Amino acid sequence: MSRDSAHNAARRGAESQRPSGAVARAGRRALLVVEDERHLADGLRFNLEAEGYQVQVAETGEEALEAFAGGAPSFDAMVLDVMLPGKDGFTVISELRQAGQFIPTLILTARGHPDDVLKGFAAGADDYLTKPFDLAILIARIRGLLRRSEWVRSEAKAPLPQRPKDRFTFADKTVDFNLLELRVKDHVFPLTLMEMNVLRYLIQHESETVSRKKMLEQVWGLHEDTDTRAIDNFIVRLRRYLEDDPARPRHLLTVRGLGYRFVANPVKTD
Ligand code: CA
Repeated sequence: MSRDSAHNAARRGAESQRPSGAVARAGRRALLVVEDERHLADGLRFNLEAEGYQVQVAETGEEALEAFAGGAPSFDAMVLDVMLPGKDGFTVISELRQAGQFIPTLILTARGHPDDVLKGFAAGADDYLTKPFDLAILIARIRGLLRRSEWVRSEAKAPLPQRPKDRFTFADKTVDFNLLELRVKDHVFPLTLMEMNVLRYLIQHESETVSRKKMLEQVWGLHEDTDTRAIDNFIVRLRRYLEDDPARPRHLLTVRGLGYRFVANPVKTD
């Protein structure tokens, strides 16, 4: 698809979306948009600002990484194009995750590259849209990302006595849903929002087999034809954190042909 069709889609979306801007304005959340196509970036900035967001645009991967250099997180979410000059979106997200930066991130992938979605999730992305996209859908997805992180933040900020202990302990591991952490013995693994959401969903359905499709619908709110292998990347990542031997999982089991099952207390077989 041409640049113009993406841009026009953004413009069309703007016309239908703008009136709702006042609702979002209260929050004034900050977004980093990483997009090298200037007129698409300008269109996104214009429309997202109309929705009440503060928007900063980076045109290259290097520029995006620079925006995070210096410590304190200054953005609430990031929209990240994959195809960028220099460092591409996959490199940007994996470098940020390695540096301990867990900003909620939605990647923009080119249609016709389904593997990009899987690569993006493997690199640490939380959500994705294919280009050209509908602006209304992008805004809904950004809201979804922010809502989930907002919730985490408000829980963490709440005064201690009122703060519900949102933890789950199994075997020698503790998941802290507020802090987005998994503790295994003395080790603390920080989790991305999506890793935590996947884990939470599986824990909530302990001992049940849940299908990949169900998880994509319930965790991401995706109803379209998404490649369900996307979920496998999250399972692989989670197994690395919480299985003693990720190749022989005892908690996050694959149910062949059906999906996955979380088992808190597996029966010892050896
Ligand atoms: Ca691009």
